[in-house]
Amino acid sequence: GARTNFNFADLLAQTLHLVHADATEAQVSVETDLPPHLPLVVANRVQIAQVLVNLLRNAIEAMATRPDGVRQVTVNAREADGMVLVGVEDTGPGIAPGLNLFTQFETTKPDGMGLGLSICRSMVEANGGTLWHTDSDQPGAKFYFTIPIRQTVQ
Ligand code: ADP
Ligand code: MG
Repeated sequence: GARTNFNFADLLAQTLHLVHADATEAQVSVETDLPPHLPLVVANRVQIAQVLVNLLRNAIEAMATRPDGVRQVTVNAREADGMVLVGVEDTGPGIAPGLNLFTQFETTKPDGMGLGLSICRSMVEANGGTLWHTDSDQPGAKFYFTIPIRQTVQ
């Protein structure tokens, strides 16, 4: 599919609608943290939506395995270095030690395919961005990806 210019906040709102039922069922609250204005991005809109859905579903599935504790996933975005930088941060158990997250067929789920993250990374890279995970002292998993900002013709 073709790249178009679009507003990330609008796409995020539509995507959250898609995962709303799953989040509610898993008793996960989904928060957003966006600046009032973000520049338009240029990308394949459907692919960026798929990346968001995959990351959100992983976060919801990770927290569904926890009997107690805060179950929250926050999607934040900001402008950085000509890109929109998106974070998907959850309060789940975090990434299992030694897992090769972005390798195909790596899964810890009984019925998992282990394809989601490798496909997400390929789709983000096909759109000129990067996707990564960071370890931190905080509990939970933190994934980030970038989307190029629309180039305006002078
Ligand atoms: P699948 O969801 O089919 O297992 P993915 O490629 O989407 O495949 O994810 C691979 C693995 O990475 C998962 O099985 C899980 O162990 C781990 N993972 C992904 N996202 C999270 C997350 N938010 N919290 C904890 N573990 C995660
Ligand atoms: Mg997955």
